[in-house]
Amino acid sequence: MGKGEGKSEKKKSDSRSITRINLKRKQLYHPMPANPHAGSLEVICGSMFSGKTEELIRRLRRAEIAKQKVAIFKPAIDARFSNDHIVSHNEQKLRSFPVRHAKEILQKSHEAQVIGIDEGQFFDAELVPICNELAEQGKRVIVAGLDMDYRGKPFEPMPQLLAIAEQVTKTQAVCMQCGEPASYTQRLTKATERVVVGAKDMYEARCRKCYEPPEE
Ligand code: ADP
Ligand code: MG
Ligand code: ZN
Repeated sequence: MGKGEGKSEKKKSDSRSITRINLKRKQLYHPMPANPHAGSLEVICGSMFSGKTEELIRRLRRAEIAKQKVAIFKPAIDARFSNDHIVSHNEQKLRSFPVRHAKEILQKSHEAQVIGIDEGQFFDAELVPICNELAEQGKRVIVAGLDMDYRGKPFEPMPQLLAIAEQVTKTQAVCMQCGEPASYTQRLTKATERVVVGAKDMYEARCRKCYEPPEE
């Protein structure tokens, strides 16, 4: 074997190994799931003002950019800013269907590939099997909602959704007392019903140290 042949042999094997490395990289960093038709459940949870709706809107806008069919739902009970849009506290919004019962989501989602649901905590317990069913049909389901109520107790059906979700994002607000990251929602009025719909006039975000649980 002459000198030149040896060199070209080496080159060949180099280029082969580079191809192998590239292939490996592709597999490692490919952003698509292994099976793009497999459904999944994502949950975005946290206190009020923690950016749940903002994050939901961001994911749904990206799905729209990818030309996927998106359907968005909110409970009819939450008409704080708009009845037919999900709206964040920093005034981003997306058109949505207001629904009274979780089962209406199933009925209205036949065409959709991506389903966004805001204020999950205001839905009945049926939301859990319905999200599961939609994910099993191959759809991407994204639910945003409060993980705790104003007493700091888990807010059903969110805990059950967290348990069955493939991906959970817990968002934090800024504590309005001390500026630390906040995970609690402080009710500023004396009302004792679990659901009192309101925003800045009625609630503020607080950290564990500054949060004052209401008297039982
Ligand atoms: P959520 O859906 O969790 O209630 P939104 O997505 O509607 O929250 O609103 C998030 C936005 O609220 C922030 O981008 C910010 O502009 C505003 N905001 C108001 N108060 C606070 C706070 N205490 N902490 C963080 N963001 C706040
Ligand atoms: Mg919200
Ligand atoms: Zn604090």
